[in-house]
Amino acid sequence: MITLSLAQALNAATARGLERLDAQWLLLHALGKPTQGRAWLLTHDTDTLAPAAQATFDAAVQRRLSGEPLAYITGTREFFGLPLQVDARVLDPRPDTETLVEWALEVLNEQTPVHPAPPSVHAELVEGPLHILDLGTGSGAIALALKHNRPDAQVTAVDASRDALAVAHTNALALNLQVELIQSHWLKNVSGPCHTFHLIVSNPPYIAAADPHLTALHHEPLQALASGADGLDDIRQITTQASAHLHPGGWLLLEHGYDQAEPVRALLTAAGFANVQSRRDLNGIERCSGGRWTHV
Ligand code: GLN
Repeated sequence: MITLSLAQALNAATARGLERLDAQWLLLHALGKPTQGRAWLLTHDTDTLAPAAQATFDAAVQRRLSGEPLAYITGTREFFGLPLQVDARVLDPRPDTETLVEWALEVLNEQTPVHPAPPSVHAELVEGPLHILDLGTGSGAIALALKHNRPDAQVTAVDASRDALAVAHTNALALNLQVELIQSHWLKNVSGPCHTFHLIVSNPPYIAAADPHLTALHHEPLQALASGADGLDDIRQITTQASAHLHPGGWLLLEHGYDQAEPVRALLTAAGFANVQSRRDLNGIERCSGGRWTHV
C-alpha cells in the first residue's frame, strides 16, 4: 500500500466520485476524530495516513460509493441537535423530519405554557403531564427530540420492528431520556388508561411501492419506506386509528411525501379531524399535515 498524505487520500476519494464533504467526514471517522473536526483536517493535510486508517477509509469510501447512507458508515446522525446511533435496522433520520418536531413542540406549547413564560391567550391548561405518542419511531429520533425539549411530558414510542426498538432503546439510554417503548403495529398494542394522548406524531412509510426512488434507498429498511400502491396505506390506517387514542383537543401530526399534502388532508378531514393544515419543510415543500380531534 502506498502511503498517502491526508490531502492525497481525500483527492483520491473525490476522484472516485465521492462528494468532498462526505470524503472529509469518512476520513475523520477513519482517524477516530469527531466529525466536527473539518478544520483540523485542513491544518493537517500533509500528515501521512497510517496503513490501518487508510484501509478503514478505503472500505468506508467503497460503502459510500455503493449508496450506503453516510450515517450507517459512521454510525451516527445528528437530529434536532441530538447525536443518534443509527444503522441498517432503522431509517436514517432526515432533516425534513425536524419540521414535524418543530410543529409538535408548538402544539405542545399551546397545550401547556412552559414555565416561567406567562400563559398565552391560546394556552389550554391540561391537568397532569402531557402524553405524547410517536408511531414508527425507528431510531427514536422524533420521540427523543420531543422528550429532550419537553422533559415534563410522558413520551411513548412504538415500532413494529423489534430491531428498530433495540436501536431506539440504545439511543434513549445513551441520551439519558426516558421514553416508553412498545412493540406495536401502529396503535394495535397501545391500550390502557395511560395511553390516551395529547399529541400523536408519526413519520410513517409513505413512498409508493413502485416508486423508482426506492432503488436508491435500498440500504434502508423497506418497511420503513414503502406503503402500498399510492404510498398512503399506513397513513390511512393511522388517520382512522388515532382518534380513539386522543384526548379532546389533541393533535395528530404526520410527515408525508412531497406530493401527498392534499390527499393526507382529505384523509384527516374524512376521519373527523378539525383545523386540518399542512407545514412546509426547509425546501418549501408541504411535508407534514395534521389536525385536531375536537370531539369528546
Ligand atoms: N423522506 C424519505 C425519503 O423520501 C422517506 C421517509 C419515509 O418514508 N418516511 O427519502
